[in-house]
This record gives sequence, structure tokens and C-alpha cells, in this order.
Amino acid sequence: MHLQSTKTLSNGVEMPRFGLGVYKMTDHEETLQSIDTALKFGYRAIDTASLYGNEVEVGEAIRHSGVPRSNIFVTTKVWNNDQGYDETLRAFEVSLKKLNMDYVDLYLTHWAVPETFEETYRAIERLYDEKLIRATGVSNHHEHHLEKILAKANMAPMVNQVEVHPYLQQQALSTFCLEHQIAVTAWSPLGRGGVLDDPTIVEIGREIGKTAAQVVLRWHLQNDTLIIPKSVTPSRIEENAQIFDFELTQVQMEKMATLNRNQRFGQDPDHFKFDF
Ligand code: NAD
Repeated sequence: MHLQSTKTLSNGVEMPRFGLGVYKMTDHEETLQSIDTALKFGYRAIDTASLYGNEVEVGEAIRHSGVPRSNIFVTTKVWNNDQGYDETLRAFEVSLKKLNMDYVDLYLTHWAVPETFEETYRAIERLYDEKLIRATGVSNHHEHHLEKILAKANMAPMVNQVEVHPYLQQQALSTFCLEHQIAVTAWSPLGRGGVLDDPTIVEIGREIGKTAAQVVLRWHLQNDTLIIPKSVTPSRIEENAQIFDFELTQVQMEKMATLNRNQRFGQDPDHFKFDF
């Protein structure tokens, strides 16, 4: 495995296993700089969303990077108050314009809005049929949401992007996704930094001369989970990507497995406050 290694999605599309998350990058220059640093270092996937308000910067940074558009995997998401069939199609057009691109690699339902998430996914399937997106997906979907989608869909979502880190390992959901050939991407793969002082993780890092962040990110990869860690700090953007020159042993993986406490740093999809 290396920084640009991919996972083959159920439709044959290759998705980088590693990318840059850009949530809360709101400063224009800082966002451009961070994406530029990441692409120069070899990152080939960017995870944004209409909510993040930085699709314009994502498009601009990619165009100015000199890396061909076709070599970069771009994910964006439809926000909650834009969901529904026609609404999603319209929201996608807005995202595409902001990105200033003619296609997106992966388009996700951001959260499963109870009244509309099924129709939203139907619109995402249409965008796929029209070749405006290369892969379909969802985010923050529990098994019961996925079951509803699978009952009606022409094709299963290729990706489910959910909160996963050592304190929220999401075993049951991952098994469900594996059974349905749905790739799992971890959001907040570092638990927003909240798992990095964990003594077990720090100790494993000491054993192998790696930082806690590198241990956690490597653990995700060895679990076949795709990752999109966020940082605006150049040294951390590099540090987070330097996880391809070592492997956690089975004993270290087993120690990591004991850390689950079903603790969320974000919201539970079943209790999300949908304020419209
Ligand atoms: P994360 O787990 O990636 O943590 C990011 C934070 O950890 C940084 O702000 C920084 O403070 C710290 N950090 C990063 N690298 C570090 C290092 N090497 N050493 C020490 N600290 C470090 O959390 P995130 O930003 O919430 O998640 C990553 C991405 O996932 C987001 O940018 C976004 O693209 C996506 N996301 C999606 C959803 C969703 O609902 N689909 C929700 C949250 C995030």
C-alpha cells in the first residue's frame, strides 16, 4: 500500500484510500494552501460538502495544482435542507458550478433526513446514470437507513461515510457494509484529535517510533477503512500521510480493538437535529 493506493468500489471505480478532509476550512487562502500542500505531497482525494462553503476553493486549488483533474478523486455532499429528488438535482448543479467541474467522483447524501433520504438517493442514482458522478454514496446512514435504500435502489450505494475512530469502531455497521459491497470511509478518523492522548495508542506509537495520529490512521487502513483526516498545518498534512512505511502487528491491532467505547465526537444519525 502507498499514499495513492485505491480501493475498487462495487462498480469498478478506483477510490483513493487516503484523502484530505476540508471541513471547517473557511479561510480562502488557508484552504487553497492546505489543498495545495496536500496535492504536492501526493494526496489524490479531497472530501468536501456544500455545507463546508469551500467548494469554490477546492475547484480552484485543484485547477492550479497542475495535477490532472482525472487523477484527483473529489467527493461532495448534498446538505440536509436541499434533500428530496428535484432539490438534490438542483443542489448538485450548484455544487458542480462552484467546483467549476464537469463531473464529481462521488456524491453523498450528507445525513439521512427521515422524510427525504430515500428520494435523495434516487436522485443520486440519476446523476450516476447521466454520468455526472462516477460513484454513488451516502453518509451517516445506519444499517436501518441502508436497508431502506437497498430495498428500492437500482444499485447499492458504493460508499457510506460515517464517524469511525478507535473509540467508535462501528463493527456491526462495517460488517453490514462489507456484506453489501459498500466501502466505509471514516469521518473524524482521528476523533477530531480526541483519541490522540490515549495511553494505549501513545504506547504503540512509542514502540514503533510513530505519532499517535499515524498509529490511528494506519489502524484504519489495516481495517480496510478509507480515511480523510483534516489538517491545515503543513507538517501535519505530511505527518498524516506518512503511514505507508510500517505495519501494525496483530498484537497491536488487537490492542487497538479493545479501545472501542461507542463514544461519538459528532452526532448520532438517529438523533441529528434537523433544523429547517
Ligand atoms: P479529524 O479526525 O480528521 O481531526 C481533525 C483535527 O485533528 C484537526 O483539526 C486537528 O486539530 C487534529 N489533527 C489533525 N492531524 C493531526 C496530527 N497529525 N496530530 C495532532 N492533531 C492532528 O476530524 P474531522 O475534520 O472532523 O474529520 C475529517 C474529515 O471528515 C472532515 O474534514 C470532513 O471532510 C469529513 N467529515 C464528514 C462528516 C460527515 O457528516 N459526513 C462529518 C465530519 C467530518
